Amino acid sequence: MKKRLLVMLIILLFMGSSFTISNEAGEGRIRNEKVIAKITYKSNECFITTLQPIVVITSPEDGSVVTDPHLTVLGYAMDEIGMNYWEWEWHWQGGSYSNSSYFETAEYVEFRIDIYGLHPGWNLVIVRFKNIYGAWGEDSVNVTYNPPNNPPNKPTMPEGPTEGKVKETLFYSTVTTDPDGDSLEYLIDWGDGSNTGWLGPIASGYPFQSFHAWDEPGIYEVKAKARDLPYLEESEWSDALIVTISGNDTEPPVVVKKYPENGSVFTEPNITAWGYITDNVGVVSYGYTHEWEGGATGSSWPLEEPTTNFSFEIPLTLHEGWNKIKIEASDAAGNYGYDEETVYYNISPPDIILLEFYPIQVVKGAGISQTGKISGPELVEKKPTLVEIWYKSTFNKNVKTKVIVKVNGVVVGEEIRTIKKGGPHKLEPWVPPPNKYLKKEVIKPKITIEVEIVPVAGEANINNNKLSGEFKVKKGHLQLFYIRVGRNRPDAMFGGFEQTTFKSAEFIYATYPLTSYCAGYVKNEYRLYFPTIPGKPTTKQEINWLKNLGRRFRVTSPDENVRVVGLVRKGWIFANSPDTTPTTNGFAYPNIPVVICEVDYWTTPAHEIGHTYGLQDHNRPATIYWIIKGILQKEGKCFMGPPIPPKTFGNDWICKECYNILWNKIPKDPPEIMVVSGLIYRDGRVEIDPFYHLSQRNLVDAEIGDVGDYSFGFLDEHGNLLGLAGFNTSFVKFSESPVETNISGFCLRIPWINGTKEIQLRDKDGNVLASRIVSKNSPTVTVTHPNGGEILHPGENYTITWEAYDADADELTFAISYSNDSGETWLPIDIDVTGNNYILDTRWLPPEDKYLIKVIASDGVNTGQDTSDATFTILPDTTPPTVELVKPRNGLYLNDRKIIPLPFTVIIGGVTIEADASDNIGISNVSFYVDGEFKNASYVSPFTWTWNEFAIGRHKIKVVAYDFAGNTAIDEQKVWIFNI
Ligand SMILES: [Zn+2]
Ligand SMILES: [Zn+2]
Repeated sequence: MKKRLLVMLIILLFMGSSFTISNEAGEGRIRNEKVIAKITYKSNECFITTLQPIVVITSPEDGSVVTDPHLTVLGYAMDEIGMNYWEWEWHWQGGSYSNSSYFETAEYVEFRIDIYGLHPGWNLVIVRFKNIYGAWGEDSVNVTYNPPNNPPNKPTMPEGPTEGKVKETLFYSTVTTDPDGDSLEYLIDWGDGSNTGWLGPIASGYPFQSFHAWDEPGIYEVKAKARDLPYLEESEWSDALIVTISGNDTEPPVVVKKYPENGSVFTEPNITAWGYITDNVGVVSYGYTHEWEGGATGSSWPLEEPTTNFSFEIPLTLHEGWNKIKIEASDAAGNYGYDEETVYYNISPPDIILLEFYPIQVVKGAGISQTGKISGPELVEKKPTLVEIWYKSTFNKNVKTKVIVKVNGVVVGEEIRTIKKGGPHKLEPWVPPPNKYLKKEVIKPKITIEVEIVPVAGEANINNNKLSGEFKVKKGHLQLFYIRVGRNRPDAMFGGFEQTTFKSAEFIYATYPLTSYCAGYVKNEYRLYFPTIPGKPTTKQEINWLKNLGRRFRVTSPDENVRVVGLVRKGWIFANSPDTTPTTNGFAYPNIPVVICEVDYWTTPAHEIGHTYGLQDHNRPATIYWIIKGILQKEGKCFMGPPIPPKTFGNDWICKECYNILWNKIPKDPPEIMVVSGLIYRDGRVEIDPFYHLSQRNLVDAEIGDVGDYSFGFLDEHGNLLGLAGFNTSFVKFSESPVETNISGFCLRIPWINGTKEIQLRDKDGNVLASRIVSKNSPTVTVTHPNGGEILHPGENYTITWEAYDADADELTFAISYSNDSGETWLPIDIDVTGNNYILDTRWLPPEDKYLIKVIASDGVNTGQDTSDATFTILPDTTPPTVELVKPRNGLYLNDRKIIPLPFTVIIGGVTIEADASDNIGISNVSFYVDGEFKNASYVSPFTWTWNEFAIGRHKIKVVAYDFAGNTAIDEQKVWIFNI
């Protein structure tokens, strides 16, 4: 491109003074773009002769690459004839700029062109000079401008909470932009020696969020920086956010007021309250509030330095009537403690003073709200409720007065009662009328209870004769399924099933915070348990069986709070379950809603289900208020204590702590749910099952914001965290003596968050252990058979078929359930079914004409479902079993051994009678008779009974086989026997 004249010897002679003219261009089209062009006269003498001006650009070199947007073009021009005009041009991709000017005639000039704001890419500069005869000479240079990379701008100060607690997870965000528009990575320094590491990429201008939990109390500087990709050039640090993490001192100061005593009655107004305050760390301030009818006062005082044991004396002037005195104290961590009492100052004659009352459901004082202002216990809807009333009397004798209890302004009890002098006393029985309790009055969302004493005519003060309180009411529901585990095995035949079902459900309803419950047993008798494996399963197999059984019920009955109790015969657990002792009568695993209990232990299901709600084994006392039965007060033990003898309730109840845990499980505003399940190994490995996002709302096992050892994280399409639902697990099998395990299962309901595109299972450090992407489309499914009108014969297999489609081509799995009451209730058949059909075993299904099949498809998260269009029928089983008496038969038997075949049967000594029996739906038992008298029943194949009793002569032995539908078959024969 360079048109350099082929020259020549150039001899320059510098003479005379030089002067300059300036040709300055204005602002160009882009910011910072500017050109200054100058000519310097150096001489009027030139030593070469050409026909046209010689123009030479000496700098920069043609083809050079620059990173500075400022370019200086230097050069000279010469012509012995003399030049008087020049022009220059600057070209770039998509534009150009030029200028020109005359100048005083000169033979040699130097020029300088300063270009500010080179355009990225090529920049061509052409310089031309014209001599006085009009001949042109020119030179040009082309340079490439590569703009340098710029670091990202300083990120914003991290935004997030400035206060927190040790181990509390706090979220922070920051944002910045990159001048070059590059993608960014961020790093947040937590100020405790740890940081997030570089995380990204995140587009310039999009916020970055992360979270942290500090281990130690202190004041931390949280700051962020960013770096661009791919240059990894770092921004400067953001301004630091100061975060104060308070210590884990959560023990509030303990205030012990020694004087005055609660309920004291004074006749003089001036008293001095005194007592002491203790705190593990130190009290930093104390004070009091004093309230009376129509007024209040108070004060507080800081202590010069924290004091662990502080005595106080506070003078007070009482007002007539009740005086509520609250002594308060705070420690350095901000924990607050107080002691509060009500005393009375009576100027007037004797009085009956209502002190307090509270409703009681199940456990005295349980269910009390732990947050906010305590207005009274919160109640469970329609749960039998007593009202305990305390009073004090300044009469000098017992008096009779009318006690009235109102709920929401309506009188529910009104009676004349004896009021004892002095006090405080509890009104006995608690709520008038005697031996009645509130139930239907206790309804959501709250009730007002009012207690009133009508003063003794002409004698008593009319003050203090009314108390009222407002109580929030919640609703709790539990559906209990009892199933006979191992029903297709001989050991499944056991008594006590129905009675245990009834009694244990009654006990659960009495002790749990439940408005209602539904307990039923599953008639199709789950054959899930140890169906093929001889001997005990592994812990993993056992957890999987229980977990998958729990999944079936949770997916089938999503709008119910479900617990499944697998009942087994006595001794079965030791024989069939790993890691158990001979006396174990129940066990549970954490986070699995299925427990196994032995029959006749009526409180064991309450205990084991308690474990599934997070209750731990302990031995705490529990006060009994079995209100329905009128058992009012008794010292007992919590059912989370050691095993309780068979077929008793004893003194077993629920302690306040356990009741409160269960009570807190009652949801306030149930969200839309998802059933998630899987296995967690101690070493951090996890296996997750297909999840089921179900549109029903229900209580969840882990709420958004819950913190735990593990958590489910919900991410949106940009990877932003929408929420975390934490849960705890322990590697333990809760049995008579808890056993450590290496695996923990879970089958949980968690909330669904709209907009979730990925679900992650994380450990407590935030490591992602497993992840599942939520695909765009939900599957669809159509049940094709049975689809209405079919008539099925029991004992035969039928194929359920369906068609399923998923627009994302996700792999689908299916949960299958049935109803035999036209869809009112559903019971699971199987889960994790693949393919498009399933063999339905009708042997265990009772005859009914209202059957429906439901198939729910899961693509891993999303679900679709369909039900048979109309009902179908399963007929009663009318096929009798077959039975044959195979021993003794046609021979001489000596001491139970056949010695000689004969055409008839002779027995000497005892003999084992044996029958073969079979049936299309299964043999329930074979009964043995001698001369028409029932002797024994055998539930086990081979069906046998040893006949070894005094018998001589001819007798008839008979066997009767029963199938599960009650159909029978008989075989008999006559024998000669000599057994003495
Ligand atoms: Zn236990
Ligand atoms: Zn307890």
